[in-house]
Order: sequence, then C-alpha cells, then structure tokens
Amino acid sequence: MQALSASDVLEVVEWGTSHSLTSTALYLLDRAGTGLDSETLAALPLGTRDRLLLRLYGECFAGPIRAREACPECGAELEVELRPADLALDAIAASGPTCLQHDGVTLRFRPTASHDLLAIEGASDEADAARALALRCIETAQRGDTELAPEEIGDETIARLGEAMALADPQADLTLDLACADCGHRFGRSFDIARVLVDELVNVSRRIFCDVHALARGYGFSEAQILGMSAWRRQAYLEMLAP
Ligand SMILES: [Zn+2]
Repeated sequence: MQALSASDVLEVVEWGTSHSLTSTALYLLDRAGTGLDSETLAALPLGTRDRLLLRLYGECFAGPIRAREACPECGAELEVELRPADLALDAIAASGPTCLQHDGVTLRFRPTASHDLLAIEGASDEADAARALALRCIETAQRGDTELAPEEIGDETIARLGEAMALADPQADLTLDLACADCGHRFGRSFDIARVLVDELVNVSRRIFCDVHALARGYGFSEAQILGMSAWRRQAYLEMLAP
C-alpha cells in the first residue's frame, strides 16, 4: 500500500461527490494498491477494512489524526490528537464470538462487510435496514435442530444480534473515551476512520486544485502535467510565480 498520488486524490474525492462513504472507502483502497481485488476488498470485515484505512492514513499523512469535539457538558472544544497505529486493535481482539443464543434460537453469523452496507443503501426505514443487514450476516439460524427462515427470527433476537456483531468486530465500532480539560466530564465519541480519511483527502484536494490553477495560469501546463509532478516540483514552480 502506498500514499495516493495527486491524481488519485482527485479521483477519490470526485468519486465521493456522487457515491456513499462505504463506496468511496472501497474505491480509495482500490487506488492505494492493497494487492486485493475489489471483490475481496468489499468482502473484508469492516474492522479489517478499517485497519487498512488506518495504515493508509499513516502512508498519506506524517502527523497524527486531529479531531475536534465539543464537550456535551460545558461546550468547551477539545482538540484530540490520535496516532493511527494506536487506533489499530490487534487481530486477536477482533476475533470475537460468531455465535449467539437467544430465546431458544442459535444464530451463527459472520462480521459485516462493505458489500453488506452497499446492499442496504437506499433503504428508507432505519429499522428495516438494520434487520436486512443482520439477516445478510446470519449463516445459520436454528431452534433446536430445526432450521429457521429469516422471517421467523424475532426483532428482539435481531437486536441482540446487532450487539453481538459489534462485539465480534470491535475495530469496526471504535469509541474514543474523551475527558474535558475544563470541567472533567468524560464522554464517548464514535470514531470512523473512513470519514476522517476522506475528509482529510478533501482538504488535500483543495490545495491541489489551487496548485493546478496557479501553475496552469502561470505556465500553461495542462492539468495532467501538473498532477504528474511531485509535490516538491509543484512547489518549486509555485515559488517562482510568487511576486
Ligand atoms: Zn466540559
């Protein structure tokens, strides 16, 4: 896996303007050269995908991840610095239960993957979408020795399954434990590396567009020529344009 080129950054950000975050994260990993084909990437458990995204963040950006959160108690703004490596849980922690027993029903399930999230996109009802997602991840459902059809699994069992799925793949459901320096209040905030990485690439794309604009106007270079330059070379030309 390698840092994205300027051209890749623009491709990813442009893709994100008309596709969901799940789709954009997959497109991003596809461009980053993970060595996995797009079908395999889409079938990775979300926690595994997120570990790849954390690694990619480290490849693309030298510094820590910076996040701002408002304290829900006093409103003070907290600035949080996170190292991508500290957010990557080890693989042992990710191998949680894959079996749930509830109300006499035994469910065997697999972790949620990107293709599951893509399949429920567009569902208008949140509860229906959550149920559809859970059902996709059930491999077997039995009451005693009798196999159950999806519609025979009760809502309560599906709700428990949602909790069990989150426990089984903790990397996919990260919560930051934050403490306010002003009032001491402690609170949790969910952390989504896909959102963070895509947002950061949007920031990078704005700087690239500025470079393209200035260099095209100043020298008549084409967009393709400018995007093909290293950041160092772009900077060298920009400095000569400066008054
Ligand atoms: Zn506070």
